[in-house]
Amino acid sequence: MNRPNTHISEDRAGAVLTIDLNAIVDNWRSLNERVGDPCECAAVVKADAYGLGMHRVAPKLWEAGAYTFFVAQIGEGIELRELLPGAEIHILSGCFAGTEMDCLQYGLIPVLNSLEDIKRWGTLAKKLGQKLKVTLQVDTAMTRLGLSPKELATVAQEPDLLDGFDVQVVMSHLACADEADHPQNKQQLDAFIAARKILPQGRASFCNSAGIFLANFSHFDLVRPGCALYGVNPTPDKPNPMAQVIQLSAKVLQVHEIDTPRCVGYGASHHLAAGQRVATLALGYADGYLRSLSGKAKAWINETEVNVIGRVSMDMIAIDVSHIDCRQGDLVEMIGPHISVDDIASAAGTIGYEILTSLGARYHRVYKG
Ligand SMILES: *Cc1c(COP(=O)(O)O)cnc(C)c1O
Repeated sequence: MNRPNTHISEDRAGAVLTIDLNAIVDNWRSLNERVGDPCECAAVVKADAYGLGMHRVAPKLWEAGAYTFFVAQIGEGIELRELLPGAEIHILSGCFAGTEMDCLQYGLIPVLNSLEDIKRWGTLAKKLGQKLKVTLQVDTAMTRLGLSPKELATVAQEPDLLDGFDVQVVMSHLACADEADHPQNKQQLDAFIAARKILPQGRASFCNSAGIFLANFSHFDLVRPGCALYGVNPTPDKPNPMAQVIQLSAKVLQVHEIDTPRCVGYGASHHLAAGQRVATLALGYADGYLRSLSGKAKAWINETEVNVIGRVSMDMIAIDVSHIDCRQGDLVEMIGPHISVDDIASAAGTIGYEILTSLGARYHRVYKG
């Protein structure tokens, strides 16, 4: 896995990424309180804890009391197992044929997503002569992973298909939870309740971060927040109830005093007038500052807002500092108290998840807490 680079010293790095582990823990605690006993709040730490460093995030959550973790892939599960010997770890994407023993060896719980998965694992259970811990996923209309209604009907008719299993969790995933009024939320909820009648084993798990905040919704036994832990707003049409987790600051490389009109950056897309001042910053799309932010984003120097101008290049961007002093080495806030991950995402035409998981490997990373 792409380990975050913690060895780039602050004086050499072009940008500093600060990750507040206490804020992640506070977010987990507040979600855990929100769902209340006996519902359990798990933690989704796939994709290197949404780019923030699973090796730092997961042990903190474990210390805070999180017990159940979800990752996407076996490799992530193996890495997490080494960090957390006692945790319950589910592999959302399941595992490909031939990798079952990896799952068993590391005590990882595969999510079985199809009848084929069920048969393959059933055969293995018979061969080993033991009950295997598995999680079952039903597709309640997202059409991504999970048993189809037809497959679910087959399982209902042939319950001995599940004989070899100690079913831990029965789960499904919401497609539109971030749109509180979307009719599919209720339809999926009804489908999940119906599926649960056929598969009453283990604990029921349905809600991601946004699902936890849906009105008139059940949290069932286990919720699976990811983005909300990392400060992304799980209620996009309301103020963010979560604490902000990251701060990204880029260093000024050079300041230009413009004395004759000219352009800045690739494509000469942004015109400058005489008298303007431009600062070049050491941050670009190679660091996850998306090229689609060209000419769209804002940044802050202390309490002053500045515009990102011209095109984002691989290692650099330009900001208009006509109205504020700055010089080489100064830090400019790109994400932080004035600009949330969601603000940057909406300027880039994407979602906070993509901003977080795109964060680059060249930062000086600082973990708080
Ligand atoms: C990624 C994922 C989650 C977490 O979703 P968030 O929206 O980040 O809270 C939960 N369940 C499944 C199946 C997922 O793939």
